[in-house]
Amino acid sequence: MSSAKYIFVTGGVTSSLGKGIISASLAKLLQARGYSVTIQKFDPYINVDPGTLNPYEHGECYVTDDGAETDLDLGHYERFLGVPTSQANNVTTGKIYYTVITREREGAFLGKTVQVVPHITDEIKKNFRKLGESGQFDIVITEIGGCVGDIEALPFIEAVRQFKWEMGDNNVITIHLTLVPYLKSAGELKTKPTQHSVRNLSESGIQPDLLVCRTEYHLSPEIRKKIALFSNLQQNCVIESIDAETIYDVPLLMKKEKLDIRVLQKLKLEERQEPQLDAWKDFLGKLKNPTSEVTIALIGKYVELKDAYKSIAEAFIHAGAVNECKVNIDWIQSEKLLEDNAYERISIYDGILVAPGFGERGFEGKINAVRIARESKIPFFGICLGMQCSVVEFARNVLNMNDAASTEMNSETPFPVIDMMEEQKKITQKGGTMRLGAFPCELQKDSKAAIAYGTTQISERHRHRYEFNSTYKEQFTKAGMIPTGINPDSGLVEIVEVQNHPWFVGVQFHPELKSTVQTPHPLFVGFVKAALEYSKRES
Ligand code: GLN
Repeated sequence: MSSAKYIFVTGGVTSSLGKGIISASLAKLLQARGYSVTIQKFDPYINVDPGTLNPYEHGECYVTDDGAETDLDLGHYERFLGVPTSQANNVTTGKIYYTVITREREGAFLGKTVQVVPHITDEIKKNFRKLGESGQFDIVITEIGGCVGDIEALPFIEAVRQFKWEMGDNNVITIHLTLVPYLKSAGELKTKPTQHSVRNLSESGIQPDLLVCRTEYHLSPEIRKKIALFSNLQQNCVIESIDAETIYDVPLLMKKEKLDIRVLQKLKLEERQEPQLDAWKDFLGKLKNPTSEVTIALIGKYVELKDAYKSIAEAFIHAGAVNECKVNIDWIQSEKLLEDNAYERISIYDGILVAPGFGERGFEGKINAVRIARESKIPFFGICLGMQCSVVEFARNVLNMNDAASTEMNSETPFPVIDMMEEQKKITQKGGTMRLGAFPCELQKDSKAAIAYGTTQISERHRHRYEFNSTYKEQFTKAGMIPTGINPDSGLVEIVEVQNHPWFVGVQFHPELKSTVQTPHPLFVGFVKAALEYSKRES
């Protein structure tokens, strides 16, 4: 039997209200009071995981240590809490149905009609409980994706209702996040959408315990009272969530609104101590009072949707803050870098980052960006596909291997300097089949990477099918592109660095996934430092 307490976070009125940030902020406050907390996300779509989704559809795919391809909200959870998530922290409708249908095929329900209620809802409840039953957590926060009232969210909402009934009000609470829009023409905040949304939830049998209201303006006592009255709540259970300058302000805003205290009261848990947030406040202080500034060009093909590179953008915020440096990011569409003016466009930056990605589109533009960074000695950071681009560029322009390529882009290339990993060649299934999750890596002493990490033993997360082709290792090394990070078990090249360059590091893994507020990623910190140094150049 689980002794953990459960908090469900639902959303209404519209999507994109920031349930992930509210969940992470609440978790942060509870953690800062001494509770062990985890957050899980339940998504109503039918993909088994978001790994097969285009970043334009769903933003970045966040990868956990244990190799799950998950929703980007898990990134927020880790960045706020500094505690790794796992496979169990992200469940989709697809995953639930997959399990139930597989069991049906195995004969587990012989003779029975398999139905949404109870079979699907039972499976959902089983997953609600999983992390709570691990004994590792005092409190499990579950974010339900989508909006209340969506057809596909219904089984989740029904499962929450049943779960609360079974576990009791002191063990399970629900927080509903809504929007209180400001109507310019009327000059007023409007409560009606919130009223409707709460009614919608009530019709599903769930009376929210707390309401968190997103708003552009402060909620007056009258507005709070009105919302409370129509939502059947005490006035102090209506929590204001005003637009913040940065998402990292939200824990402090929620503390001011006493969200954590209300939650603890409802769950009959002790307040324990005032939230210990000194390190958090220190970070915010530095973030808001930078003493210097750099501008980085982020070259990618999904730049129109910033969420596609969420973790990279956040990692720059963390790394900027420790360096007391404001990091501006200019998002540059790699396809545009094919034009003659590529040099003029990007040689002005203090640093160039070539982003992860898949497929041919924009690849040649990325190669151009690498060339400019290498030749003009602009600090360069290549991540995953970005690292692969740096290898291809070096092969073509330094080793004179004409038409060198990754076999992902050109299977006929005479110089397959990036090639599909052996283990990947026999795989035909798409979802969850890349090289995924954390792998160890040994760094060459005195390399830029080893200096940044301050150690030679690291572990980083991966998501790729192609790799540096080790048959070319010697040629590259002799010409000045050094493999400085190697997987000790497989011998795979995980990091390359160019010599005689202020800072040129390409990594096959995704360092951005491990950067958190309190442990900014060493490579991002190192890259920002190098950019800062470079920004002092004579122009
Ligand atoms: N497309 C490349 C591969 O599969 C890089 C993947 C990535 O950037 N995540 O190896």
